[in-house]
Amino acid sequence: MLQQVNGHSSGSDTQGGGFLREDLQEFLSGEAPLHQLDDLTKVNPVTLETVLRCLQARYAADTFYTNAGCTLVALNPFKPIPQLYSTALMREYHAAPQPQKLKPHIFTVGEQTYRNVKSLIEPVNQSIIVSGESGAGKTWTSRCLMKFYAVVAASPTSWESHKIAERIEQRILNSNPVMEAFGNACTLRNNNSSRFGKFIQLQLNRAQQMTGAAVQTYLLEKTRVACQASSERNFHIFYQICKGASTDERLQWHLPEGAAFSWLPNPERTLEEDCFEVTREAMLHLGIDNPTQNNIFQVLAGLLHLGNIRFADSEDEAQPCQLMGDAKCSIRTSASLLQLPEDPLLETLQIRTIRAGRQQQVFRKPCSRAECDTRRDCLAKLVYARLFDWLVSVINSSICADPDSWTTFIGLLDVYGFESFPNNSLEQLCINYANEKLQQHFVAHYLKAQQEEYTVEGLEWSFVNYQDNQTCLDLIEGSPISICSLINEECRLNRPSSAAQLQTRIERALAGNPCLGHNKLSQEPSFIVVHYAGPVQYHTAGLVEKNKDPVPPELNRLLQQSWDPLLKVLFPTDPEEQPSGQSRAPVLTVVSKFKASLEQLLQVLHSTTPHYIRCIKPNSQGQAHIFLQEQVLSQLEACGLVETIHISAAGFPIRISHQNFVERYELLRRLRARTSSGPHSPSPDERHSEGSLCTEAATLQPLLQDILHTLPALSQAAATL
Ligand code: ATP
Ligand code: MG
Repeated sequence: MLQQVNGHSSGSDTQGGGFLREDLQEFLSGEAPLHQLDDLTKVNPVTLETVLRCLQARYAADTFYTNAGCTLVALNPFKPIPQLYSTALMREYHAAPQPQKLKPHIFTVGEQTYRNVKSLIEPVNQSIIVSGESGAGKTWTSRCLMKFYAVVAASPTSWESHKIAERIEQRILNSNPVMEAFGNACTLRNNNSSRFGKFIQLQLNRAQQMTGAAVQTYLLEKTRVACQASSERNFHIFYQICKGASTDERLQWHLPEGAAFSWLPNPERTLEEDCFEVTREAMLHLGIDNPTQNNIFQVLAGLLHLGNIRFADSEDEAQPCQLMGDAKCSIRTSASLLQLPEDPLLETLQIRTIRAGRQQQVFRKPCSRAECDTRRDCLAKLVYARLFDWLVSVINSSICADPDSWTTFIGLLDVYGFESFPNNSLEQLCINYANEKLQQHFVAHYLKAQQEEYTVEGLEWSFVNYQDNQTCLDLIEGSPISICSLINEECRLNRPSSAAQLQTRIERALAGNPCLGHNKLSQEPSFIVVHYAGPVQYHTAGLVEKNKDPVPPELNRLLQQSWDPLLKVLFPTDPEEQPSGQSRAPVLTVVSKFKASLEQLLQVLHSTTPHYIRCIKPNSQGQAHIFLQEQVLSQLEACGLVETIHISAAGFPIRISHQNFVERYELLRRLRARTSSGPHSPSPDERHSEGSLCTEAATLQPLLQDILHTLPALSQAAATL
């Protein structure tokens, strides 16, 4: 049974709705205590401005979480607030009869999610989708939720099993520092920015105890190993090694104190993320023993030395580029750390082998200086990406529960938010594509859930016009022709194609799609995609090459020659390898791989009940107590929050089960029946119910009087709107 209160809803699944009495009075007197509005569906009218004002008031009052109907908005406090994440508070939310009645918090979402798994006869998997721009607090939030589940979903307390439980939960939590050391970096927007997307599945047994977890990662920004924007840094792990290695390790890894590495910019910045000991300790917990760790760090040191290799331009095209300055020393050290033969390493960087003709004759062509650099960078990216994937698989084998020991899961999704920079390329296209998919999932799921409920109830309803982003998705991934398919086609045809040609092809083939735009003032070939979060201009230069992500086969073959135990695992010799050196499997493009992993993710999400947390960054300096309206506004727009609130508010906010409704109001029917059928002596039960009805009436009466009193003011207020 549902009841609509126009425009204002609690968004809660059980009770509430409309302005509270104090709210109403204060709203009418123009003094609504905005910071006290726990749910943005209660601001009136719901506009970007009112929502912004409410969030700002709450931020000023140190209140960082606010409901927005079905979503939780999380403002980044940018200061430690231990009491807000204490174990005691976790337990309080866990024990609360109705956690949604406590202050909005990520623990409410956590607990609601946990109860959903628990309470249903037929358990349903759950997911929490954490979104927001870089530095907004997604990883922080995911980490806190993992800690929450480690507390509330801990295994039983008998000593033996408790020890095991502790190990499993601790291991799961330990995956965070390791993945962050290898996958996070200091960027302009966040000192601890995740350079990969992550979906972690917390596995629960029938008793809703956490028995394990599985991690899936997406699109690691591997280019960062060899190329960092000025003022940014490489992945944390490199700095951790250089700062935290012991004297012996420094000798072993050729990392003398103060050594300069071109792939290690801004080493003077000290971050709390630079703690080598924490990473090593966590790795140990995950079963990565000290010799294996040393092996990993040795390989990473090898990459740092590789980055110091410099080539000089060759005057004669027929001759390979020579090494510059100290590069000879760098290549020797790198080869020794990577356990590669030195001469073949240098040769692989300097000379391209081409196989041609029926006989697959081998031609050797010296590379230009730029090509040598590209090959060097490619080698580092290849090793780092394989190492990262291998680490994730080791983590998974360490934390993943036996398939028989779990029945349900809670998934936590921490993926990069919508991005729009002055220069956007394939990385942004993939990231924004993922965000389009997640937005579509959000709208579809939320509306679908409501529609189904209303249909079952036989209710008449109408929705606010929400933005359907299918047209934009058609443009990006649709069949038969889309931006992705056109970029893939260029890779497949392998024809020389300029950035301008790609722009023309996209414009011609997809001209009919209203989400495709063109910036006439742009100096460089580009196209615009009108995303749900705003238009983004993508430059076509380099798009096809990035999509191919080519790895010269010689590099693979070289790495297969390494006698380093770790590199042997990362680059096993391929028994299927063709004599030509080309593997038989078709090479997948970046876009194809990303699309496939995204589809897999969405399939998983579709099989769960989703919950949403939108993280908002109040300022770009990362400072406490600063709320910059402009910056928050653009984030509210990008995540379509006002729309979400409208959708939530347009629905029926008060949801009382038929059973509860009958129990509560059945008396009204009987009273009515009695007045129409004349006096009779009530039973003791009826007398009791009448008593509670009178109490309710007594509570309602002053509110009704208030409303009557304030009606003239209300209509005046309405007239001025
Ligand atoms: P990216 O997309 O770059 O990975 P992110 O959304 O994951 O960004 P986080 O790394 O989670 O952002 O948060 C950035 C920083 O903000 C944290 O390192 C921390 O200092 C601070 N922070 C985030 N949330 C909180 C919080 N709830 N309390 C205190 N500080 C926080
Ligand atoms: Mg992050």
